[in-house]
Amino acid sequence: MTATFKKDESVHGTAFTFKKDSIVETTDITTMNEPVTLKNIDDNGYEEDKYLGNYLRAKMKRDNKRFWAGDNISDYLHEGDVEKLIDEATEAFELVLDRLLIDRENDPNSKGTARRLAKMYFNEIMAGRYETAPDATAFPNDSADRYEGMLVVRSELRSMCSHHHQPVSGVAYIGIIAANKLIGLSKYTRIAQWCARRGTLQEELCNDIAREISKATDSENVAVYIQAVHGCCENRGIMAHSSLTQTTVLKGFFKEDPGAKKEFFDNIKLQQEFAPR
Ligand SMILES: [Zn+2]
Repeated sequence: MTATFKKDESVHGTAFTFKKDSIVETTDITTMNEPVTLKNIDDNGYEEDKYLGNYLRAKMKRDNKRFWAGDNISDYLHEGDVEKLIDEATEAFELVLDRLLIDRENDPNSKGTARRLAKMYFNEIMAGRYETAPDATAFPNDSADRYEGMLVVRSELRSMCSHHHQPVSGVAYIGIIAANKLIGLSKYTRIAQWCARRGTLQEELCNDIAREISKATDSENVAVYIQAVHGCCENRGIMAHSSLTQTTVLKGFFKEDPGAKKEFFDNIKLQQEFAPR
């Protein structure tokens, strides 16, 4: 049996023309390759009867804005957009269930599953793509008795691999050497979770958390260590239940000074002894 892969031109193609006030034609998987016409590709040009998802993708492509599974696209969303996108994704998930030959009309457990999936993606497992960064109020740390030591915070993580959309569950240890400002302790975890609630690879997630913590704290001296188990290795494929993946990103002193690196990992061991998981 030969499967024919029909290219979604809006994803794979170069057939886009972005002329303001001109008609742009594209196709979208949610409409089963029916042409969709978008007019006036600008902030106010969205027409209510069209798919908002198509319009937003067109805008991001026009702007060369990357919208991979691990990217935050909150700059492109306005109030009420997520609800509309959930409606559109519900329609698309209904089609997926139909294609999987699941009787969503009569199976009581599958009624409403399409909407549950759409809501779960937008509001939970991929929420970090659509929400703006958590507000991390900073407190000054510049007085004579400023804290100059290392801070290590453990953050529980739930994520999802972008390859298989399987859960990733683990813990991140975030280390910083305090700079001129400090953020509340819970903010480390909020930032880590905001980065994790997307489609990620653990390696990328480690980098993303380090970058965002560095931004929020103004400290270039940041370390992130993550250990996590991956549903895609447990529920499918190799089906290895004890697999554990460890990733580390070291920046600034953590990278340059072996003493700082050792202190960071010693702190992690102390945390694990104190509260094993
Ligand atoms: Zn995977």
